[in-house]
Formats: sequence, C-alpha cells, structure tokens
Amino acid sequence: MASIFSKIAKGEIPSYKIAENDEFYAFLDINPLTRGHTLVVPKEEIDDFFDIENQKMSDMMLFAKQVALAIRQTIPCKRVGLVVLGFDVPHAHIHLVPMQGMQDIDFKRERVKLTQEEFQATANDISEKVK
Ligand code: 5GP
Repeated sequence: MASIFSKIAKGEIPSYKIAENDEFYAFLDINPLTRGHTLVVPKEEIDDFFDIENQKMSDMMLFAKQVALAIRQTIPCKRVGLVVLGFDVPHAHIHLVPMQGMQDIDFKRERVKLTQEEFQATANDISEKVK
C-alpha cells in the first residue's frame, strides 16, 4: 500500500506544497514544531532515509538546501534545523525546522496550531523564494 507521503507527493492527498521536481517533493508539516516546518520526501517510496542510494541522497540534500534557503529568507529564525527521524511515517523524509533556539527542535513539545489560511500563506511565501 502506498505511504501517506507517496499519496501527498502524487497529489492524491492535499498538502501545502513548497516545491517539487521529478524526484522530490517538499510540503509543510501538518503538525509543525514552528511555522514553516517543512518535510522533504523522495517521490520513490523508500522507508529508511539511509537506504537511499548515494547519488539520490546527494540530490535530495541539494533539493532540501534550496528549500532551507527559501525558509531562511522567509521565516525569521536563527537557524534552519535539519532532522531525520521516521518514527511516525515509514517513508524517508527530512525535517527542515526554522529555529530560534534548541527548544524548537523538541519533537515532544506541543506543536504550533495554524489556520488553513496561515498554512497557505506560509507555503506561498516560502515557495515563491525557492530557486
Ligand atoms: P517522523 O516520521 O519523522 O517521526 O514524523 C513524521 C512527521 O510527519 C510528523 O512531524 C507529522 O506531523 C508529519 N505528518 C504526518 N502525517 C502527515 C500528513 O498527512 N501531512 C503532513 N503534511 N504531515 C504529516
């Protein structure tokens, strides 16, 4: 069965899209640690990030870099954190999290609540900065 992130990347499930190319798709995390928290996924269904073959992983990191630079230009933050977990969704993904400090990368903390309009405006603002 296709993973939820495969369905999102194919447009079968809606998402707040940030960017895509033939191989990768970036979209806002629906339960963000901070406003602008973005996920980057390969369109190919691979569970563990570290099973991605070398060239594809390099390409994914460069794609994530373009997204991170757009986040940094858009969301006031000191750093854009990059984290790989995968405990919830068995489809490899990179978290990009705009951070003011270490407290922002605590995945056990309460998530930020955004309205649909706030999600959409955030996605629009970041996506128009992706080169
Ligand atoms: P992880 O697998 O890295 O532990 O966490 C998965 C992340 O995906 C979580 O931060 C969660 O909020 C996010 N997530 C789970 N399901 C969906 C979904 O259907 N849409 C979006 N946009 N994000 C999701």
